[in-house]
Amino acid sequence: MLEEDQNIEWAQISWNPVIGCTPFSAGCQNCYARVIAEKFKHNKVKDYENGFKLHLIPSRLTMPLSWRKPKKVFVNSMSDLFHEDVPDAFIEQVFNVMNKCDIHVFMVLTKRSERLKQIAPKLKWTPNILMGVTIESNAYRHRLDDLKATKAINKFICIEPFIGAIDKLNLTGLSWVIAGGESGPYARPMFDDWVRSLRDWCQEADVPFWFKQKSAYGERRAKATIDGHYYKEEPRLYKSPDLFDFL
Ligand code: SF4
Repeated sequence: MLEEDQNIEWAQISWNPVIGCTPFSAGCQNCYARVIAEKFKHNKVKDYENGFKLHLIPSRLTMPLSWRKPKKVFVNSMSDLFHEDVPDAFIEQVFNVMNKCDIHVFMVLTKRSERLKQIAPKLKWTPNILMGVTIESNAYRHRLDDLKATKAINKFICIEPFIGAIDKLNLTGLSWVIAGGESGPYARPMFDDWVRSLRDWCQEADVPFWFKQKSAYGERRAKATIDGHYYKEEPRLYKSPDLFDFL
């Protein structure tokens, strides 16, 4: 297991053929990946000699091919695959590996939805790829439109850190919605009403909802419940139009 795996809740393993990133929008203010990368650099962890400076690690590209048991994989937990400094050809190589590894489910998450939309026609969208965009507040709701413009079979949105109220989103056809408040000492507030509305939209659209955590803003983190319920629904993966059920 790599050191990077410690921060994942839904996935079983992370796969980081790219490490490092630069801030892109408001949700990046307290980026956990930057803190971890700098700590790994300090501790001389392999592949973290550059800290959080974006760098490609081609030797990691083939790692999933050697995993014999099915895994849920978080792709680039320590970066953003669609960062402007990641060449198209490298993104295509990452997708080639995911296309080949159909026993695994790969979760890819980006804030750079414009680049995703632009390069998407060049990529092969197999059903084992769960493609998501982060929408941390209303200012970034256009990312859902960019995601919907792709031919990704399984799409999700991640509203984390949830730092601003969001007007109603059309969630129809999504495989999953994740939400969570910000963690860490500089956490910004999140209000239950924002999460409650999102939960209701998921239920209306019949989309699984995973509520990860409340904000660490204030003295002590509260339980991750809304109206007394935990929401930890797994993504519903489609092999269009049928259910894709190896999860
Ligand atoms: S896009 Fe993600 S990895 Fe990159 S700086 Fe923002 S929060 Fe960090």
